[in-house]
Amino acid sequence: MGVVLLGVRRNYPANIPGLLLWGFAPLLCGAAALTYSLEAVVPPALAALGGHALLLAGEVLFLMGSQRFLGVRTHGRFWALLCVANLLLLAWFNLVQQDYRVRMLLLGGLRTAILATHLLVLLRWARGFAGRFMAAVVVAQLLTLVARAIAVMWVYSADTQRFDASLIQSVYLLVSVFSLMLLSIGCQFMASERVRDEFKYLATHDDLTGAMARRTVIEASKREVLRWQRYGVPLALLLLDVDHFKRINDGYGHQVGDQVLTDLVQVLRRSMRTVDLLGRYGGEEFIVLLPAANLAAARQLAERMRHAVAAHGFEAAPQGVTVSVGVSSLMVDDVCVEALLSRADAALYLAKRDGRNLVRDQTQH
Ligand code: GH3
Ligand code: MG
Ligand code: MG
Repeated sequence: MGVVLLGVRRNYPANIPGLLLWGFAPLLCGAAALTYSLEAVVPPALAALGGHALLLAGEVLFLMGSQRFLGVRTHGRFWALLCVANLLLLAWFNLVQQDYRVRMLLLGGLRTAILATHLLVLLRWARGFAGRFMAAVVVAQLLTLVARAIAVMWVYSADTQRFDASLIQSVYLLVSVFSLMLLSIGCQFMASERVRDEFKYLATHDDLTGAMARRTVIEASKREVLRWQRYGVPLALLLLDVDHFKRINDGYGHQVGDQVLTDLVQVLRRSMRTVDLLGRYGGEEFIVLLPAANLAAARQLAERMRHAVAAHGFEAAPQGVTVSVGVSSLMVDDVCVEALLSRADAALYLAKRDGRNLVRDQTQH
């Protein structure tokens, strides 16, 4: 699984963090299993300690991979210190003062801390199915660790061993192996969900201004038209066009023009309601969808936006920026959003004709 993770990592965009750590995590856990099984060849204490070290490192890498991926701070040094201290104690209770139960509690305790931190990170920051999937696997790991600790402490005799054929030790080994596989699959799920979300965002948003893409707003407006037809919920639409934008481009250059557009979107957003959708209709024209707003409410919002733009001090364009706005709302006979769009466009034309920095609506001529 580690090799697969490291292999597919090449297919993911370089800006997805954590994949390298996630790739090495199952490799280390696998190496731990291999080292444990060397018990017959090298001194058993050495095999056990080596295995523990690799296992702890693998689980810390899983945790740190998730933290990197989710943009949370990692604490590599802290965990490394804890692991080293733990391994020294394990060595003591293996070589000097043989005690399996204490060793199990020491190792199990640290692993519980690592897994619990991983679980908290996933629950707090991960979104979507993949995050829940990973969290479920970590919960299964935690439960078996706790169950095993209880069984070894109170149910079995003191000389029970890791590879005893008892039920709890078998379940423990089984869960360890499967959870390793499922965690690796979870990492891949998370990474591909991230890629999907990024592509989705790119496809639905304008990359210059961060406003929605024209198509996204039109799709949303189609849903709103259906709501209007079925439930009579009103819908209004604004078309905004920057006044004399060519002058800004010609006077200061295209880059300044771009900056003005980006700032403009921020200004517009501040005067919108949370349910409103802002999209870039093309060039320096924007579309605002106002669900559940009638014409009067839409006019008010349009005035608010126009005023906010005119009053804003654009750093890039000191002489100021104004917009003209065309307002339309759904009428009884409307069956599609195109009618709404063309009435807003006609109203915008009126605003330009009447001198710009104005709001006009579909009832005006
Ligand atoms: P008015 O709307 O007031 O009639 O005048 P205007 O100068 O804004 O007229 P028009 O709509 O014809 O000009 C729009 C200009 O916007 C033309 C185009 O070069 C520019 N433009 C379109 N998209 C972009 C862009 O993404 N960045 C920049 N900088 N300019 C753009
Ligand atoms: Mg224009
Ligand atoms: Mg214009």
